[in-house]
Amino acid sequence: MAANSTLDASESEVDYFNDKELESYLASEEFQIDEKKDTSFKCLYCPKVCLSKRGMTRHVNCKHPEKSVQKPKQQQKVTAEEILPLDKFKTILGNCLAILSKDECYPTEITSSFNVNHHDVSPYYETLYDVIKPLVVSFKLKGDAEKFYPSFLSTVTEAMFPGLDGFCSNVLRYELANHVLAFLSKAKLVNNTIELDYAIV
Ligand SMILES: [Zn+2]
Repeated sequence: MAANSTLDASESEVDYFNDKELESYLASEEFQIDEKKDTSFKCLYCPKVCLSKRGMTRHVNCKHPEKSVQKPKQQQKVTAEEILPLDKFKTILGNCLAILSKDECYPTEITSSFNVNHHDVSPYYETLYDVIKPLVVSFKLKGDAEKFYPSFLSTVTEAMFPGLDGFCSNVLRYELANHVLAFLSKAKLVNNTIELDYAIV
């Protein structure tokens, strides 16, 4: 078989024989043995035949890259910004404050500290966002709502809400965990409880 008749200039000659080499190879004992072992490599996608597995791998990578199995396809990289953009996060944070500022479960001295006229998120919301970005990506990839809460609450600490006291910070971070998870899981928040039945993850 004239294995080198389809040799492309673009393919390295290292993996192919010239006419003389091929002739002597075909006559060699090595070939007789190889032939019994059927070690010529026929391309599955075109008539190409290579004399080494390495040559065939190179051929497939070069000529049929879509069939190439040399590397697993790189996992699509997804960024936190694509899943939950910064401005969306700021909106969610603002919504949490608005809800808490009207929450009748708390005395007015508590609810008033959530009032956006008293509490400004602009000094810290970007820092907070940076902290939760890995959680956002992780949730998107794994969709594990059960793990989201503990991860969120151990990552976002009370100290991350400057201007709020410990109690209010704590209330806000729970509220925020709920709303971020609701956004990520596209779940509905009903009476402040996430109904994951609605989730389309
Ligand atoms: Zn081929």
